[in-house]
Amino acid sequence: MKFSDDSGQAANYLRQAIPTMVKHNIVPNPLNYTLWYSYFSETFPALNQELDQVIERYGTCPAKIGESLFIQHISQVDDKNEEQLENFQKAISHLVNNLSDSLDHTAKQTDGYSAALKDNISALENHDVDEAMRPVLSELNANATAIYDANQQFHGQLSSAQSEINQLKMELEKSRVEANTDPLTGLSNRRVLDAIYRQFMDDHEKEDELSLIIMDIDKFKVFNDTHGHLIGDQILKFVGELLKKECPKSIIPVRFGGEEFAMLCPNFSIDEARDVAENIRVKLSTTQFNHKKTGAKLPPVTASFGCAAKIGKELLTQIIERADKALYVAKDQGRNQVQLA
Ligand code: GH3
Ligand code: MG
Ligand code: MG
Repeated sequence: MKFSDDSGQAANYLRQAIPTMVKHNIVPNPLNYTLWYSYFSETFPALNQELDQVIERYGTCPAKIGESLFIQHISQVDDKNEEQLENFQKAISHLVNNLSDSLDHTAKQTDGYSAALKDNISALENHDVDEAMRPVLSELNANATAIYDANQQFHGQLSSAQSEINQLKMELEKSRVEANTDPLTGLSNRRVLDAIYRQFMDDHEKEDELSLIIMDIDKFKVFNDTHGHLIGDQILKFVGELLKKECPKSIIPVRFGGEEFAMLCPNFSIDEARDVAENIRVKLSTTQFNHKKTGAKLPPVTASFGCAAKIGKELLTQIIERADKALYVAKDQGRNQVQLA
């Protein structure tokens, strides 16, 4: 699924969607906006067919049917492919931004017209006018008042639509952050590593330096088996905090999975990356952990590190593969050490 990234085109779909929703008496909530935006962008042909049939049958789209069409055609497609989900989120946030701006603009404009019309009529009424003109003026006045009232009502609807949009924007942002965050450590997850890499390659020359550090806690299975999974979780949280604290600003540490962490280091040579890894290794291995309840001393926790520097236009997966090999060497040579690819 691919929604348009072109704001002109997105606005065009919306321009078609809104009057259709009004015509069929469909509540302008975010789900329905998405449904009708999808309809006019012809993103899911099967959805269009079903919506046509529903409208033909009911003259509107009942809420329950709208929800099930949304789940069936839009939301389920997403979780098959993360990139699609990302595109979908981008398109929706683009859409709500556009909608919010254009509603605001419309509201200001109609306000201006309506006030000017009232002013003009009262200016006319203050002049001596032909008796024959009186009924015309009075009708004009009544019509203008009706327009003004309708406008006020429209204003109310606009502002509630806008607060709904703002709410949706916040929810979208929240779900974006959640999708990129590891809940246990609060670190970013692997998706972010890919994004940092893509961004770096877009912004830099191919020969610019980029290094990767992969870190893996040593003998963590034994640690869990001996001290319990909950204490193991506390160690992972601590490592998350340590990485946030010890990584230079330009490095965003991520939880790569399980007891593995990764750090892409933009503009770092492999030696500079080694220094970052070495500092973390020493800080972790010299931290004294105590059992929270009993106060008993826990054995030191150590980690092994593999570092690799990007060669030319290498893909991230290739850099990871080389850093991983260096990590294996570190494990093989006795753990609690940093090895370079
Ligand atoms: P090595 O030094 O070779 O890396 O040994 P290891 O025991 O660390 O490696 P192995 O891959 O055999 O085991 C990884 C362990 O990490 C097993 C698993 O229980 C633990 N682990 C992975 N994720 C979590 C987690 O979220 N919480 C806890 N407590 N443990 C985890
Ligand atoms: Mg591991
Ligand atoms: Mg391990």
